[in-house]
Amino acid sequence: DIISQVINFGAGPAKLPPSVLLDAQKELVNYKGLGISVLEMSHRSSDFTKILNTTEKLLRELLDIPENYKVLFLQGGGSGQFSAIPLNLISLKESKCADYIVTGAWSAKAAKEAEKYGKVNIVHPKLASYTEIPDPNTWNLNPEASYVYYCANETVHGVEFQNIPDVKGAILVSDMSSNFLSRPIDVSKFGLIFAGAQKNVGCAGVTVVIVREDLLGFALKECPTVLDYKIQAGNGSLYNTPPCFSIYIMELVLEWIKNNGGAACMEKLSILKSEMIYNVIDESNGLFVCPVEKKSRSRMNIPFRIGDIKGDSKLEKEFLDKAAALGMLSLKGHRSVGGIRASLYNAVTVDDVEKLAEFMRHFKDTHQ
Ligand code: PLP
Repeated sequence: DIISQVINFGAGPAKLPPSVLLDAQKELVNYKGLGISVLEMSHRSSDFTKILNTTEKLLRELLDIPENYKVLFLQGGGSGQFSAIPLNLISLKESKCADYIVTGAWSAKAAKEAEKYGKVNIVHPKLASYTEIPDPNTWNLNPEASYVYYCANETVHGVEFQNIPDVKGAILVSDMSSNFLSRPIDVSKFGLIFAGAQKNVGCAGVTVVIVREDLLGFALKECPTVLDYKIQAGNGSLYNTPPCFSIYIMELVLEWIKNNGGAACMEKLSILKSEMIYNVIDESNGLFVCPVEKKSRSRMNIPFRIGDIKGDSKLEKEFLDKAAALGMLSLKGHRSVGGIRASLYNAVTVDDVEKLAEFMRHFKDTHQ
């Protein structure tokens, strides 16, 4: 069947486990014998309440989320959180200042959005290119900052933090949209974590926010009610109609992650899969070039050029065309950087990655 012939290496929305799609298909018209679809179910019905509660329970279990954190399911995407975070947290301290670590396109966007609501301090000298994480010893953290923000995995540039940054006890806020549940994390180290679902844990429409309870209640008066964490938490994410179907898909994906060994297993597989591709790159005698310094390389999104660091457009087109002919889709780099990008989220299997690695080795052999 077509599902098993095509491999989706897209950066997001991204591949879902086929079993999740098939389960959703089976239940689409008649959810668990109720005679209606989740798509047409009241968000206040007991049946949807079960879906919402199970999704939260699974998340708490998979990430070992401490009791004093709220889990919210919100609309507005990751970009909505670029606004919601300063709107809710920038006045935690009188300074109305926030520290940002900017390691790629997404943290840059978040910092720009925050400037609308307060002062933004980029803690390091501006990077000439997003190919590394600036040395933490050079960070100029402001002790008066309300929080420190970073993006755990930069989806466009393929730069990933391998450890939680040391921010000297400040309140840490992280965008984990593109590496959420690809590894275990110690939630207690964070004030807030957010993640759009459409890469590792579901489809577009829902964004998870995990926020420490004592940080609720500081929203600026201009904060739109739907973005106010305290109000959303007080209403169990039901202040307004939540993205019901996207939450349901997340429930199915979280069950799949649990049945496949949880975050620890996802991490083992991520290490294995990403090494398979980085090894081909590093052993290609310069035909494939990854611009990111080794210790900041992402396990999730692997950007590379073909020919040289600037990329030979003819070779790159040939690579993409041949890959597509073999059923390997969405390998084109982000429009802002070009080149190739292979995204290896949880649903992408070791076999999928082996096919790509094999194709890359063959491409190398026929071009050198
Ligand atoms: N943060 C990261 C790391 C992303 O990769 C993206 C989108 O790809 C976003 C934020 C923005 O998410 P959204 O498009 O849901 O607003």
